Amino acid sequence: MFTEEKLKEISLNQELKEKALKWLQNKNKNCRGCDIKKDYQEHLAVPGHGSCNAGIFIVGEAPGNDEMLAGKPFVGRAGKKLDEAIEETGLNRDELYIHNILSCRPLDNKFPHHKTKEIQICRNWLTAELGIIRPKVVIAVGKVPYEYLLGLKNTRITNERGVQIPWYIKELDLKTILIPTLHPSYCMRKVNMGDNHPYECMVQDLALAKKINKESI
Ligand code: URA
Repeated sequence: MFTEEKLKEISLNQELKEKALKWLQNKNKNCRGCDIKKDYQEHLAVPGHGSCNAGIFIVGEAPGNDEMLAGKPFVGRAGKKLDEAIEETGLNRDELYIHNILSCRPLDNKFPHHKTKEIQICRNWLTAELGIIRPKVVIAVGKVPYEYLLGLKNTRITNERGVQIPWYIKELDLKTILIPTLHPSYCMRKVNMGDNHPYECMVQDLALAKKINKESI
């Protein structure tokens, strides 16, 4: 799609950045690269959304039905919960970019194995966006993106969330910080996590991302 050098060049020029991101989102939307997309004759894929100057890049798992209909990530019930946390943290929309690992929802709702074509194709969209935006912080929303982005297995997101993990993305020569947090769907459940409610944990993790982003400016 873009070479590492090209992405770096684009990321330094505001006009190129905006253009490249729009081009990418449009390509992503019309992607018909894998079998998941073939199940959705009537829907476009769901590209990333947000500011090309975002310091914080939120990565979810896959769009749900509401997102497939709206063509935007996190607009359904989980999205509303995430919005609530974003608002509570006082984050500005122009500080944020939001995308998912998968741009289409698998009909069986099962997340494909990491080595499948579906994942590889979507990874290219995500990597190119990360390479253009070059965020200071990436928030992995839930266990699936956390494990997928860092190549981990058998993690316990409830214990491991909220920490700053230095993340070097080799193919972009990009040093960033990854913060794993809980998925907003989990935050809507009544679960006992000791002193903290899952929603409060998500708010704390977003606040940490905000702090790191502010400090880096
Ligand atoms: N859940 C996700 O992980 N992503 C969305 O876009 C919506 C719900």
